[in-house]
Parts: sequence; structure tokens; C-alpha cells
Amino acid sequence: MNFHVVTLFKEMFDSYLGESILGRAIKEKKISVSFVNPRLFVKGKYKKIWPDGNVSLQIDDRPYGGGPGMVMMAEPVISAVESIIKKISKKKNSKILIINFIPSAEKFTTTEAKKISRKYTDVIFICGRYEGIDRRLDKILKTKKYSIGDYVLTGGEIPAMVLIDSISRQVEGVLGNFNSREEERVSSSEVYTRPEVIEYKGKKYRVPKVLLSGNHKDIENWKQKTKNKK
Ligand code: SAM
Repeated sequence: MNFHVVTLFKEMFDSYLGESILGRAIKEKKISVSFVNPRLFVKGKYKKIWPDGNVSLQIDDRPYGGGPGMVMMAEPVISAVESIIKKISKKKNSKILIINFIPSAEKFTTTEAKKISRKYTDVIFICGRYEGIDRRLDKILKTKKYSIGDYVLTGGEIPAMVLIDSISRQVEGVLGNFNSREEERVSSSEVYTRPEVIEYKGKKYRVPKVLLSGNHKDIENWKQKTKNKK
């Protein structure tokens, strides 16, 4: 699975993707992640060369209809995505999905992660910033739109990392034991480890007895019961 991220802030990904399971998956080439900065595709009056040789590339402009904040222009983002598609298309049998993030769109779920991991070889994520990206982008590129929850973040970078993590878990070889994915077994959020008793401020906190019983059927039933406990 190859992920391609269109973002103004590539550095945000370095730490998350460099560590632990995803870091190892990248090293072992089970997944790959590449980045394109849409600012590099800014043209015309938005690209200014100053007398000292410095170049400024403005990717946003005021919203039509008024309102606070700036809107990212569609054209540089489209050119960035096209540059990625051009590269991918050189490979045989590639299947590309383009994802844009919209806070009010369909919620991303594990079911979607599974579908994407089976159907596509390359996923392009578009990370919006400011007030978002000019929505003509979605019509021109035919994007799939997802939200990661009912709240508004400052940008699409965290949503992109969430999807990379979630989809990667569905790629064989990324997790040590593919069949141990939480999604494929009864997994409870109520988990315990050593010691059996924690003493804190004069009170004893014990591990639920059933987990010490060695009775696998009872343990499975308990996990099923506590699966969705808040
Ligand atoms: N003005 C936009 C609106 O009302 O929908 C919100 C823009 S938000 C500040 C900037 C960008 O962050 C969005 O374009 C989107 O890419 C991303 N974003 C924010 N919250 C998100 C969420 N819950 N799920 C997915 N993406 C989100």
C-alpha cells in the first residue's frame, strides 16, 4: 500500500511515522508514504520574486461571499495531485483513491479501512488548512470525502495520519500477527497486567477475578460483556 500526502506541513508526519509499528512497516516496505507540497504549484500573481531573490508562494485567498479566514486555492492542489497520479500511473495495475477531508463528511470507520486496503494500491490524501480548500477541487478530481469525527481541527494532517494508521493495520505483514488485529477478535478496552493488586492511598485495586481463573470460555464471555464499556 502506497500513501501520498498533499500537505503544507510534511514535518508533522515525521515523528508519528518514524516510530513503532508504522516506522517498522515503512522500513520493511510493507507501506510507503510520500509527500508533495501544493505551495510549489502556485503560479501567476501568487508567485512573487522579491528584489533580494526571495520567492513567496501564496496558496490562499479571501473567500467569495465574505467571512473570516482564508481559503486554499483549488488549482495548485489539483496540480499537486496530478503530479502524484502521473508518477503512480507509470506502475502497472495501480488503483488510485483520492481522499479529501471535510469535518461534516461521512465518518471514517474500520469497515472503510478494510475496503480501501483490499481495493486500492495507492491512496492520495489532501490536507486542507485555514477555512478549507475551494470545493471545486472535489468535482474536478472526484474525491472520496471523509471526516474523522464531530469536531473541527486546524488541518487535515491529523486525519491523514489517522487513516494511514488505520488502513496500514489492514495490510498483511504490518502487525506482527495479522490475525491478532482487535477488529478480528473479541477485544475489550478493559485490560490489566501485573501486579495483581495495586495498593494506592490505603486502598486495594484488584484485577477482575475471572481473568485469573484460567477458564477461557468465561474470559471470552467477560471480554464480550466489557467490549463496549465506557
Ligand atoms: N471551514 C471548514 C468547515 O466549516 O467545514 C473547516 C476547515 S478546518 C479549520 C481546516 C481543515 O481541517 C479542513 O479543510 C479539513 O481538511 C481538516 N479537518 C478539520 N476537522 C476535521 C475532521 N473532523 N475530520 C477530517 N478533517 C478535518
